[in-house]
Amino acid sequence: MKLGDLEFWLITDGTFRLDGGKWILLETGAGDKWDAKRTEIYSFDAPPRLPQKLIARGVPSEKIDVVINTHLHFDHCGWNTRIVNGEAVPVFPNAQYMVQRGELEHAKEPSDRDRASYFPENYAPMEKSGQWLLLEGDAEVIPGIELIRAPGHNRDMMCVRLTGGGKTVFFTADLIPTAAHLPYPWIMGYDLYPLTTLENKKKWIPEAAGGGWLVIFGHEPATPAGYLREQGGKYVLEPVALDS
Ligand SMILES: [Zn+2]
Repeated sequence: MKLGDLEFWLITDGTFRLDGGKWILLETGAGDKWDAKRTEIYSFDAPPRLPQKLIARGVPSEKIDVVINTHLHFDHCGWNTRIVNGEAVPVFPNAQYMVQRGELEHAKEPSDRDRASYFPENYAPMEKSGQWLLLEGDAEVIPGIELIRAPGHNRDMMCVRLTGGGKTVFFTADLIPTAAHLPYPWIMGYDLYPLTTLENKKKWIPEAAGGGWLVIFGHEPATPAGYLREQGGKYVLEPVALDS
């Protein structure tokens, strides 16, 4: 879809946006570094292949300038890296990878509760290659791309707000993972700080509805995007089809 004169694509394994000259990848999906055990536990049939999908769009991995990880749970940063000759290396050799500094620190020393969500091979290679740009709080990294720290799911997860041509798109990441999580009390059992999730939902859902923002959910296969409308004190989704 077009966001002003900017192009924006949603693809299954990673959300992608082009900013007149810069190629920006928002999230990188689950990746393909899956052994038999992990594949069985998370019931992935065949991991979708993000680099091939980008090539189909005329964007080889070398062209990507910026990779944004809202956080470092394995299902958001899997295609950050891939295995070459037995070693995990960055998939996007010319990109600056962005995440909150606190999230990278936490990934390296997770709690017993969320240890299973962090795979070092998804983030350690960019420490070695010097490709991380670590953020501290909210940042407008490129005009029109705001990374907004929205804790709750964990301490340093970010949502992303894109603006252009008078329109606003809000990518919820895991703050509102699916449309079913729009009601305030519907909060994932995974969340480390559920009351903070609640606070952030109460802040951002009315703002998105009032501002007429197009909302894109982090994990919604049936209705990945739409506008929010208030109905009798509740917020409902008016789904919008996006080109894939
Ligand atoms: Zn997550």
